[in-house]
Amino acid sequence: HGTEGPGGGVIQGSASEAVLVAVLAAREQAVVKYRELHPELSESEIRGKLIAYSSDQSNSCIEKAGVIAAMPIKLLPAGEDLILRGEALKKAIEEDVQEGRIPVICIATLGTTGTCAYDDIESLATVCEDHNVWLHVDAAYAGGAFALDECADLRRGIDRVDSLNFNLHKFMLVNFDCSAMWLKDANKVVDSFNVDRIYLKHKYEGQSQIPDFRHWQIPLGRRFRALKVWITFRTLGAEGLRAHVRKHISLAEQFEKLVKDDKRFELVAPRALGLVCFRPKGDNEITAQLLQ
Ligand code: PLP
Repeated sequence: HGTEGPGGGVIQGSASEAVLVAVLAAREQAVVKYRELHPELSESEIRGKLIAYSSDQSNSCIEKAGVIAAMPIKLLPAGEDLILRGEALKKAIEEDVQEGRIPVICIATLGTTGTCAYDDIESLATVCEDHNVWLHVDAAYAGGAFALDECADLRRGIDRVDSLNFNLHKFMLVNFDCSAMWLKDANKVVDSFNVDRIYLKHKYEGQSQIPDFRHWQIPLGRRFRALKVWITFRTLGAEGLRAHVRKHISLAEQFEKLVKDDKRFELVAPRALGLVCFRPKGDNEITAQLLQ
């Protein structure tokens, strides 16, 4: 906000809401664009062809956003390392276009729920740019680590995405609920959700420095979540928050070492940030018992 570009940020309640807003905005943009290109098709014909993508490792909220948006979301196979790459997306988009479907959005994950895998944003961005598909990144958990210089690799490619969310109520110590969302072009969201009434008019309308957040979200009214973010940041400071994230990572490193040194257990996936996925060696039944 306050710069000359159309980008902007908004605090949503949860990652689920941020993903839903991105999915709905991308859907409406696609409908408008496609209607211009194909005036011979009715709006319902166009809506019936829309299709979205994510990985089979993505959080359940992605699939839920598809259900609410009435747009099928294909959960593409991640690689053996549980990472979604451009190759898989390209194949799916090409098949769908061939069959007359309209690709709308791909939701990638930085820090999957299962193993904290990071989808390959660079290769996904290339495919999305080639096919005019919105790229959203759900970094609900891992996004907090964007604050660390040693995790700069995590941010690779995010300058190419259309929107991104991460949860301050995870790594950033802010009380639930609080999910930060960025949009490369906020107008796309505002244009999709702008429904006006006489009683909603005010004198600051249309001023980009004073965004009207009712157009950026599902509810009309808003909670003052920025207050608790401000208090947390002022109390702990940037360094305090970084120290907190680093502590999580170092605890996970210690735990990973304990697992590696113990003959009874093995790692299932490489440690990522504060997450160590491990299991007892042997039959899956033993894992189920341990979990129980
Ligand atoms: N995305 C990822 C990667 C998650 O790990 C989670 C929750 O753990 C979510 C989304 C859902 O978050 P929220 O409860 O904020 O909707």
